[in-house]
Amino acid sequence: MSEIYLYHKTEEEVKLNVWCAFPAVYNFGMSALGYLSVFKQIDSIKGIFAERIFTDTQTTKIPAKYVDILTFSFSFELDILGILKILDKYKIPFLAKDRDESYPLIYGGGPVLSANPEPFCDIFDFIMIGDSEPHLEKIFEIIKTNRDKTKKEILELLSSIEGVYIPSLKNGNYKVKKVTSPLKTCTATPILTEKSFFPNTYIIEIERGCTQKCAFCLTSYLNNPIRYCPYEEIISKIDDGLKVTNKLALLGAMICAHPEIDNICEYIIQKKETINTDIEITVSSLRADYISDPILNMLNKCGQKTATIAIESGSERLRNVINKKLKNEDIFNAVDKLTKNGFSGLKIYGMTGLPTETYDDLNAFIQMCKEIKNKYKGFIITPSFSSFIAKAHTPFQIAKRESIKELEKKNEYLKKEFAKIGIKVRTSSAKWDYIQALLSRGDRDLTQYIIEVYKQGGNLGAFKNAQRTYIKQGINFDKYAIGGINREDLPWNFIEFPSKDCPE
Ligand code: SF4
Repeated sequence: MSEIYLYHKTEEEVKLNVWCAFPAVYNFGMSALGYLSVFKQIDSIKGIFAERIFTDTQTTKIPAKYVDILTFSFSFELDILGILKILDKYKIPFLAKDRDESYPLIYGGGPVLSANPEPFCDIFDFIMIGDSEPHLEKIFEIIKTNRDKTKKEILELLSSIEGVYIPSLKNGNYKVKKVTSPLKTCTATPILTEKSFFPNTYIIEIERGCTQKCAFCLTSYLNNPIRYCPYEEIISKIDDGLKVTNKLALLGAMICAHPEIDNICEYIIQKKETINTDIEITVSSLRADYISDPILNMLNKCGQKTATIAIESGSERLRNVINKKLKNEDIFNAVDKLTKNGFSGLKIYGMTGLPTETYDDLNAFIQMCKEIKNKYKGFIITPSFSSFIAKAHTPFQIAKRESIKELEKKNEYLKKEFAKIGIKVRTSSAKWDYIQALLSRGDRDLTQYIIEVYKQGGNLGAFKNAQRTYIKQGINFDKYAIGGINREDLPWNFIEFPSKDCPE
């Protein structure tokens, strides 16, 4: 596989062998900046030999029996199936309690585990809650210098590190505090490859978090407070990236809010003119009320003709309910700017089933798209909808979810009504969203069920079949997915988000 390493690793005597696993296929993993930067950080620690593994690759460097630590990056609830697949492939027992000293320590991190690790925690020996960067080196140093000790002894040593959660040590009073990295440096792609979901793209994280605090949004609450990478750091990374590729991506939940975004865009345009090369830029979705002419000008000059904004609802009333501080006027202004800056289309993300939503709110979305379509001839609007999934630590953490039937009815309605005005709409599967909602608010009672689902093939049928068995054993799946858990009993109550992080 052709890969370009953009960091230098000094050869050292190997004291610890680490597999850094990504629970999906290679080309997805190679576009996941969080995963790659953790790999780079681990691979750069003296005495560690690290290898990346994916669901569709075989280890070529470290044979399974020599692996000391296996790390998993866990970003989406359904990644659990990829995690079980990798464990299965290398004949590693799924549960920590079934793995003796001959098996590696298994470490997990990422947004899913940081928010609510409980349905999955029995699989891991230890878990990082929050950003891993600040303590990664310390964790691996402890393991490296205590190799002669038992797993239990090592885990006890690790338990003193802020943010490290050891599921086997959890008792009634157990608390873990989420870790927040100061983000003084700028994270960027450490290994470039053509075979990535974003081929040969150098991704630069320019900020982490979002000030907006939409009531359903885990990204915002998990990555609070928002942190911006310093301008000089970003510029230096842009220079580094352009030495190896002409494709850059600026990453962050709210890149438009970076205090220096206009200057960053200016710099990219200047750079493009100086080096006389086509620069292709990709950005994550934009906030309609923060879209500025310099951003659009830069994107347009760098080949982007379609923008993405997430408005969640077409009705201002419902956007107020969910704390999405976006006026209709902001959305129309954004479209106006896009068309004036040469954009030919807009993807608009919406969400169905948000608390208090009625068909009037859906109609407001349709009406808005209709007005845009009529006013800007030839401008292509592509709405797409997913359904509301309650996430831990957000103000909507105990909010009710609508039934699969109700959500499917809404999807059908949207498809029918959008077709009438000649707009194609995409909707997510209400059934798969139910599974995500189930895992999002689940607890340890679901672990065996998840393993059973994996054994039955991991498809929708498997989730349903296995449910029949576990319902008989007393598990109330709707309690997690649809709602009904008391605030005091939430599985993630033992995780401390500093109170200013989570206003409700
Ligand atoms: S604007 Fe987007 S990233 Fe920010 S809180 Fe709202 S949904 Fe989350």
